[in-house]
This record gives sequence, C-alpha cells and structure tokens, in this order.
Amino acid sequence: MPDQNNPPDGDTIFARIARKEVPTEVLYEDDLVIAFRDVNPQAPVHALVIPKKPVRNLLALTVEDRELAGAILLGSAEVARRLGVAETGIRVVLNAGSDGGQTVPYLHAHVLGGRPLTWPPG
Ligand code: AMP
Repeated sequence: MPDQNNPPDGDTIFARIARKEVPTEVLYEDDLVIAFRDVNPQAPVHALVIPKKPVRNLLALTVEDRELAGAILLGSAEVARRLGVAETGIRVVLNAGSDGGQTVPYLHAHVLGGRPLTWPPG
C-alpha cells in the first residue's frame, strides 16, 4: 500500500511543476533549477528553488550533484535579486526529513525575505 504522504520524488507536486505539468509563474529558470512562489508565504518574499532532476532532499544529494547543489544556491541568490530583496537580505532554508520539517519529499530551497526574520527557528 503506497504511503500517500510520502510518494516517490517523481510523483510530488514539485516534480510536476519541474516537468511543467502544472501552470506556474516561473521566477527563475536555468538548465538545472526552476523557481516559483510558495503558495503559503511566510514572509513578503517567499520563493522555492527546486532541481529539475527529482531528488528527495539535501541528504539524498551525492558528489555527482555538486553542480546541482551550487545551482540551487546561485538560483536562490538570483531569485532574491529579481524579487528586490538582495539589498535587505534573505534566509535560505532547506528542510530535510521529518525533524527538519520537510513536508514535500522533493528537494526545495526556501528563499525568504522582505522582513526581519527571527532566530532560532521553531
Ligand atoms: P517544506 O515544509 O520545507 O517541505 O516546504 C514545503 C513548502 O511547499 C511549503 O512552504 C508549502 O507552502 C509549499 N507548497 C506546497 N504546495 C505548493 C505548490 N503547489 N506551489 C507552491 N508551493 C507549494
């Protein structure tokens, strides 16, 4: 019996967005990553950067994914510039696994900005 809350990487909503199967306003895209707005923003700017290749989370990356890992960070910075928060600053968050608070099992970087963010996280 498949676990509906824990589908294979390729069956998640983000996989469908990466495959352009879901209409999405694309904020940034290159050959490795694609960025779009979070549907439930936690800050005035809240975008997600995902790999086009399905990967479950940060912990599933391998040394073969070095370029992809870099592309996620560089894409996050580019999204911040495009959304006008590079000057005021951002926080990039990668939740991985259950204790990390990951709810969608497809690698994604949160790009948050537009207000001062508190620390530590909950
Ligand atoms: P996480 O808890 O780190 O797995 O983050 C998942 C994020 O995905 C949450 O911030 C959700 O609001 C966001 N989200 C879920 N479905 C969508 C969607 N269809 N489009 C954009 N963001 C989504």
